[in-house]
This record gives sequence, structure tokens and C-alpha cells, in this order.
Amino acid sequence: MASRVIPVSPFDLVLFGATGDLARRKILPGLFHRFEAGQIPAGCRIIGAARREMDVAGFQTFVTSVLAEFAPRARGKDLQQFLTMLDYVSVDARGDRGWDILPGKLRADVVRAFYLSVGPALFAEIATRLSRAGVVTPNSRIVVEKPFGRDFDSARALNRELRQCFAEGQIYRIDHYLGKETVQNVMALRFANALFEPLWNCQHIDHVQITVAESLGVEGRGAYYDHAGAARDMFQNHLMQLLCLTAMEPPSRFEPNAVRDEKLKVIRALDPVPQSDIVRGQYRAGVDSGSYLQDTGNPDSLTESFVAMKLQVSNWRWAGTPFYLRTGKRLRARLSEIAIIFRDPPHAIFPQMDNRRGNALIIKLQPDEGITLRMTIKEPGPGGMRLTEAPLDMTFAEALGAEIKVPDAYERLVMDVIRGDQTLFMRGDEVEAAWEWIDPMIRAWEESESRPAPYDSGGSGPEDALMLMHRDGRRWREIEA
Ligand code: NAP
Repeated sequence: MASRVIPVSPFDLVLFGATGDLARRKILPGLFHRFEAGQIPAGCRIIGAARREMDVAGFQTFVTSVLAEFAPRARGKDLQQFLTMLDYVSVDARGDRGWDILPGKLRADVVRAFYLSVGPALFAEIATRLSRAGVVTPNSRIVVEKPFGRDFDSARALNRELRQCFAEGQIYRIDHYLGKETVQNVMALRFANALFEPLWNCQHIDHVQITVAESLGVEGRGAYYDHAGAARDMFQNHLMQLLCLTAMEPPSRFEPNAVRDEKLKVIRALDPVPQSDIVRGQYRAGVDSGSYLQDTGNPDSLTESFVAMKLQVSNWRWAGTPFYLRTGKRLRARLSEIAIIFRDPPHAIFPQMDNRRGNALIIKLQPDEGITLRMTIKEPGPGGMRLTEAPLDMTFAEALGAEIKVPDAYERLVMDVIRGDQTLFMRGDEVEAAWEWIDPMIRAWEESESRPAPYDSGGSGPEDALMLMHRDGRRWREIEA
């Protein structure tokens, strides 16, 4: 099955932070792949912007080496054509340098996208300077990376500052999880099939587990991470988005605001979580890896590298069906999944029904994107009616054919920005509501100065996290790739 590519309109994309880590690993390779696929037409321009002094030829050399590392297919005619789209301006977000040159690089009649792949402290400053430079047209959009604030007040302040320069409909707050194919497939699965939606409620679903596990530690990001922690870095954004897509009502139309209205209602329906339903952890040293305290260089740190919570969405659909969410670093494997665990049949007619696991729908986001439905079937062969489990497995790469390349989330999201489609971006009120919900919980554990529970590197998190489920008679799925 070949993927369909609809070319976008001509655009000028100014990539602030073009020399940084994210631009190198994701954005520039993503743009090349979309160009290679025929989605970016000739005549589009990608204008790198950072403080480093470079001329256009220097930026072309830089991008060539970036692509050699992160998009090895980039060579020959495609690469040469891609390089002709590049331009560069040396600009200081905190000073005057470059701001008089930028307007001359932009064309009047095309879409303008300003992608801020810079530290969050620069988001408001760059937006203000863009506005002052007179380059914000009705056809402009601004893209801001995560983190969007570190609490409700800072997120609200940032929203206010951005909205002084751009309308809400021009602001694209990235959560790259929303760009993943499988995450969008949660909506397709629920709202384009008649099969699951009648079962998608507290009558049929026992509980939901959402896991985002990383095998790596804080690596080179120790200083930033220690200031944030798992709740701010992963939970408030990625896990909440996965929760929203799983729990939301069907929107009346597949339109950005209709979808985002429904997600917002989920956040607003969340009960506050008592500290007894929250587990925080910090990884211990492994055989050949340091502990969290060593990795961050902060022996007194009270910041969590793991958090698990039991949430209740207080509405008609979900009353009594808990959502268990967990995320952490240095766990057994890199794994992200949403697991919908169905209730048992109301009456057991077969022997062994008691110790079998029930139906589960597993939506896998990484490492391999796909969907599995756990079924109970008869064990083949004579000898009575013995039951066993069998997965109905659909790994997208296999199901859709080898030639389908699942595009990286950033590829999809950047093209959505150019198309002006905000469906997969967080609206300002959504981000604020998520902070408003989680803020009191973070504040409570910060004020209590409680120490996160230590857990083994390469394990599945603190013992208390297992207990969070056990005491309800349930258990987490294994963290295995
Ligand atoms: P980074 O490697 O530190 O790069 C920062 C970029 O900003 C560089 O190109 C730097 O170039 C430029 N810059 C710094 N100060 C500037 C100034 N005053 N004026 C103009 N340009 C300036 O950061 P990153 O890891 O790419 O992260 C960028 C953003 O993406 C951050 O908000 C981060 O939280 C977010 N993010 C990153 C990742 C990731 O995997 N890296 C993942 C998710 C989100 P010069 O020094 O030459 O100016």
C-alpha cells in the first residue's frame, strides 16, 4: 500500500535554533524526508536562524553533515535540490542582531511559519521581536516546543505574551506524541469503527493502563531534568494527551476545535488525586550506570525520575473505571502503550476461567507502532475444553506493507503547521487546564519535601507502584519491548 502525499502550499519556514539538538535530530531530517516524498514543492524556503555566524553556504554544509548523520538516504539530486531551498540568518533572540535582515528574507504571498526550537525562556521574547519586526502577517504561524511553562501561572503568562503577537489560531504548541501514527489511530480506532465504541465505557472496561517507560537515564539533560521531574517533563503533557484521546467523547466533527473541546472536557473531569494514589521514584545505580543522584550531580535531589498515579475521570462514561498512568526513566525497556483492560464475561461456563487474563486492547506507540487484541480461545487439540490466550496482532509495518514508512511525528506535525491544521496541537486553555489540575499535587509533594522511593535501574519502578495496582486486585503489564 503506497502512502498518499498531498503537496503543501509554498512556504517560508524560519527555524529558530537551527543549529540545536532537536533541529539536527528531528526537524531538518523531517523536512528533508517530506521533500523527498514530494510533499514540499519547489519554491519553498527553510531559513535557519541562530546566533552562530554563518553564510548560506556554511548553513548548507552544516545541513549536509546533519543529514548524513540523521537522514542517511539524503544524497544525489534530492539532496542538492533540498539545499537550494535553504537560507540562513544570524539572529540573537535577546539582542538586535539580525532582526533587520529577517524581514527582507520573507515573501509576502506565502505561508510563514516561525518554528521556535530554542530554550523555552526565549519563546515570548522571539514572538515579541517578530511582532516588532513587522513580519507577523495573517498567514503566519508560530510553533513552540515543550515545555510550555513549568506550572499554571507560567503557562498562563506565556499564553498571554504569545497572544499579544499571534492569534490563538496561529499558535502551534507541539506535543510530538500527538504526531505519532498510533496516537492518531486511537481516534481512528474509536471513531471510524463501530466495533469498540459501544464497549468503550465503565460497563465494559475494567481499567486503563498508560505507560511511557524509558530505558535511558537523564543522560546529558541532568540539570534541566532535575528542575522539572517526571511529572512536569512527561506526565503533564504526553501522558495527559494519551489519557485525553483515550477517554474523550466522540467530537461531532473531526475539526481542530471540536477535538480539542472534547480533550479539554476530560481534563476538567479529572478528580484531584490524593497523595496516597501517587508514587514517585528515583532510580538507583545500575551495574554500569549511575544513580539519578549521581547523574544529576545533586546528591540531595528530591526530584522524581518516575511517577505513577491512579486517576479517576469523573463523568458518566468512566465512573468507577480507574486510569493508571506511569512514566519513568531507566526502566526495563523503552515502551509506550495504552492498554484497555476489559471486564470479564459476566458468567463463567468454562473451567479455568478464573485464572485467565481477560480481553485487552493494547495500543503500542513505541518501539513498534501497532495494535494487539488479546483474546481467549480454545487450546487446540483433543482433551477437553482448555482455554488459552492468543493475540490478534497488527504491527503497522507488517500489516500495511514494507514500503509504507511510518513517518516520524515531527514530519507530520510540521506539515500540519503549513497546512494550518491545529488538530494535533494543544490549545492554550488545554495546556492551562492540565497545569491547573497537576499543580496542587506537585506543590504538595514539593512542600512536604518527601523523598521519592528508590527503584532498581532496569526494573519496573518502585515497589509502591506495584502496590498501587495490587491493592485494587490488578497488576501492571510487564515493561518489555
Ligand atoms: P539546544 O541544542 O540547546 O539548541 C538551542 C538552539 O537555540 C541552538 O541552535 C542555539 O544556537 C539557539 N539559541 C540559543 N540562544 C539563542 C539566542 N539568544 N538567540 C537565537 N538563538 C539562540 O536545544 P534543543 O535540545 O535543540 O531544544 C530546543 C527546544 O526544543 C527546547 O525548548 C527543548 O525543550 C525542546 N525539545 C527538545 C527535545 C530534544 O530532543 N532535544 C525534545 C523535545 C523538546 P546558537 O547558540 O548558535 O544561538
